[in-house]
Amino acid sequence: MEILYFAVLIFTVLLLAYNRVPLLVAVAIMVSLTVVWTELRHLFYVPSWFRFANGIVAVTLMGFAIKPLRRLLISDRLYGWFRRVMPSVSDTEQEALDAGTVWWDAQIFSGRPRWRSLLKVPAPSLSEKEQAFLDGPVDELCRMLDDWEICDKHRNLPSEVWDFILEKRFFGLIIPEAYGGLGFSAQANSAIVLKLASRNLTAAVTVMVPNSLGPGELLLHYGTEQQKQHYLPRLASGDEIPCFALTSPAAGSDAASMTDTGVICKGMHQGKEVIGMRLNWNKRYITLAPVATLLGLAFKAYDPDHLLGEKENLGITCALIPVDTAGVETGNRHMPVGAVFMNGPTRGKDVFIPLDWIIGGPAQIGNGWRMLMQSLAAGRAISLPALGVSGGKMAALTSGAYARIRRQFNIPIGNFEGIEEPLARIGGRTYAMDAARQLTLVALDQGHRPAVLSAILKYQLTEGNRLCMNDAMDIHGGKGIVTGPENYLAHAYQAIPISITVEGANILTRSLIIFGQGAIRAHPWLLKEMEAARDPRPGARRAFDKALFAHAGHVISNLVRSLMLGFTAGWATRAPVTGPTATYFRQLTRMSAAFSFTSDLVLITLGGKFKFKEKLSGRLADTLIHLYLGSAVLKRFEDDGRPEEDLPLVRWAMEDSLYTVQESLRGVFRNFPLPGIGTLVKWAVFPLGMPYNQPSDRTGKQVAKLMMTDSETRDRLVSGVYISDCDDASCRLESAFHLVLKSANAENAVRNALKKPVTFDNYRDLVQRAVESGVITEEQATMVRLAQEASRKVIEVDDFPRSKIEGFEDPAFRPAVMEKVS
Ligand SMILES: Cc1cc2nc3c(=O)[nH]c(=O)nc-3n(C[C@H](O)[C@H](O)[C@H](O)COP(=O)(O)OP(=O)(O)OC[C@H]3O[C@@H](n4cnc5c(N)ncnc54)[C@H](O)[C@@H]3O)c2cc1C
Repeated sequence: MEILYFAVLIFTVLLLAYNRVPLLVAVAIMVSLTVVWTELRHLFYVPSWFRFANGIVAVTLMGFAIKPLRRLLISDRLYGWFRRVMPSVSDTEQEALDAGTVWWDAQIFSGRPRWRSLLKVPAPSLSEKEQAFLDGPVDELCRMLDDWEICDKHRNLPSEVWDFILEKRFFGLIIPEAYGGLGFSAQANSAIVLKLASRNLTAAVTVMVPNSLGPGELLLHYGTEQQKQHYLPRLASGDEIPCFALTSPAAGSDAASMTDTGVICKGMHQGKEVIGMRLNWNKRYITLAPVATLLGLAFKAYDPDHLLGEKENLGITCALIPVDTAGVETGNRHMPVGAVFMNGPTRGKDVFIPLDWIIGGPAQIGNGWRMLMQSLAAGRAISLPALGVSGGKMAALTSGAYARIRRQFNIPIGNFEGIEEPLARIGGRTYAMDAARQLTLVALDQGHRPAVLSAILKYQLTEGNRLCMNDAMDIHGGKGIVTGPENYLAHAYQAIPISITVEGANILTRSLIIFGQGAIRAHPWLLKEMEAARDPRPGARRAFDKALFAHAGHVISNLVRSLMLGFTAGWATRAPVTGPTATYFRQLTRMSAAFSFTSDLVLITLGGKFKFKEKLSGRLADTLIHLYLGSAVLKRFEDDGRPEEDLPLVRWAMEDSLYTVQESLRGVFRNFPLPGIGTLVKWAVFPLGMPYNQPSDRTGKQVAKLMMTDSETRDRLVSGVYISDCDDASCRLESAFHLVLKSANAENAVRNALKKPVTFDNYRDLVQRAVESGVITEEQATMVRLAQEASRKVIEVDDFPRSKIEGFEDPAFRPAVMEKVS
């Protein structure tokens, strides 16, 4: 009996914490229970210690609920300590932290995600006009793009391609129709870049850049009406080609440390003396700079002669400069790997500009960094993630087809378990990457600007692309290595480091930004505590007290939730759906509580030093990333109408994400800054051991099979890429794939009847004999012949006359040894 009463007491307290019952309500419940137990003792046995313990809990909670008392005893004492350990944040860091909004990331940090609100988010869709543009001009542009010719012959887009891009207003995707642009949604913008990238990366990047962080977007949000009226129609029509220059040799990832300057002074503009700026800059890596007519420039503004006011150091500022302005030097090109889009340096020497060339006019001097960070908060989720998903989809499309067509040891290589593994990785990862892309785009189109999620997308989808491409190369063997028009993978593979590096290099994004910014922005209480601690006003201590106690309740609740969900393997929580994905919802809820509790303990232990613990931050970032990917996968499955055939992909992606979450947390526990605490946290969140495993071999086999069959699942997986109908390598691959599938039964019949596998070398004879002996019909024979011929073409690779590769025409180029061997 005594044990039962003890269990009832513990259970009541846990239930209050698990359900995050507000403090006053908890006090009321505990007081009422104490009274009830006292009254009930007349009816049946209620031990006195139990009533007493109930009362103690009620009084303790009451103590916490009396604000002046808890401030006196606790929060006022912690206020000074918190101010000391709080990380120091520079102005540029603060502007980066403040940028954008929070969305589903806040739900993950809460430890108790509201799944029903996620499921209510609309499914991704395009307007009729957007779909027509994708099916019309985008397909037409794709048809005009010859990857080999562009990259290895012209090293530029052909002039008719440039003309088409400008004529069809590809540079005005995000510019509203009122200014002559197409006014497309983020969803459409991403779909266009994705499709173009599946055909040719150079064209995709060329279109992508004017529609992401640059003059167009900055003008839309911050430009004066006069600037908008002048430039936006010209940008939309392609009369101006924009670029945006932030990076300089000394300032790459740490772009805010730029040494490019603008000094306020008087100078001549259009025959009149005006107050303006004298600019000096040296920027590099700037996409479209070699052909740009309008240069967006970030620099640091100074006013040493106080022509504008008291302040000398005015801060980072953005201006728009026509490149024909005296002193501007552009034109040279860098040559990035794997793609030949225009990219190069830009320099300016004593370039005088009037103040109204500053984006937003003189009022926006010094606000440049904030503008850039705000734009990046949303924009980072569109362009580079689209490139990443495009790469994943092309890897899935081509690797599935090639693994079915290519035979070794007389079987399609995709049937070997060794090839099944990378095929499944490509399929599962691509499914999850696309789910995250689409979900985040819906959020953007609803007006959210989720800074942390956009950093997650940039990082994870470009890394995912790298992993998919590596696997695709392995599956293709020599076919992926030998370059030439027959190689549909090599350029995309070579170009991977570009998207890894730009718009926030990935190592920095993972180690510093995703969890660093997430912990401050998406955490329900940390930012409020920091703001209160920084606020010098007297009322700030009250705000600090409120945030501190709410934070303490949050930590306790997540501890209890982690324990209860851990002991019940997730069954203590309800899933918003029934069926095969219900368990994954429960596991994500469980891991969200585990992540939230672990994060809080790491932050409490390290305080401001956390900023320098990039390895721990990186592991917590991986956890957050995979909790988001998992959420997106479950949402996608619902949006797609729960197609049962897609379940292997869902299972693969969910098992991979849950396993990664577990292993990342394991890494945090092992490297916890205080010895012993990591083990305690591990016991709290995994009380019965580590439950998750990598996707099973069976799931992997099912995914690989889906990728090698013609199915709606495969179509959904690769939807959005350009499936070529021209006579080129990728078109030949896809049609050979379909022929091979269609002729498979007939081919098996020939093989079984004649006891010989059908190959390129013997098919003519075997098929003829099979028709003559009635094993297959003439129609089936034609199909087998076509499939064999198509397969032969697919496995072919290019070879070139040596003169073309070695430069034989130029005798000085020819080493003496060549004379002997040629
Ligand atoms: C093809 C191409 C196109 C580009 N287009 C443009 C453009 O249009 N406009 C523009 O302004 N810029 C552009 N850039 C510049 C791009 O944004 C920078 O290359 C990028 O910011 C990284 O700078 P960096 O190359 O100097 O690398 P670095 O800053 O030298 O970084 C090197 C490595 O150190 C890591 N690192 C740096 N700091 C940290 C840290 N605190 N913690 C952990 N790791 C860290 C980085 O992640 C990276 O892996 C382009 C670059 C390329 C290559």
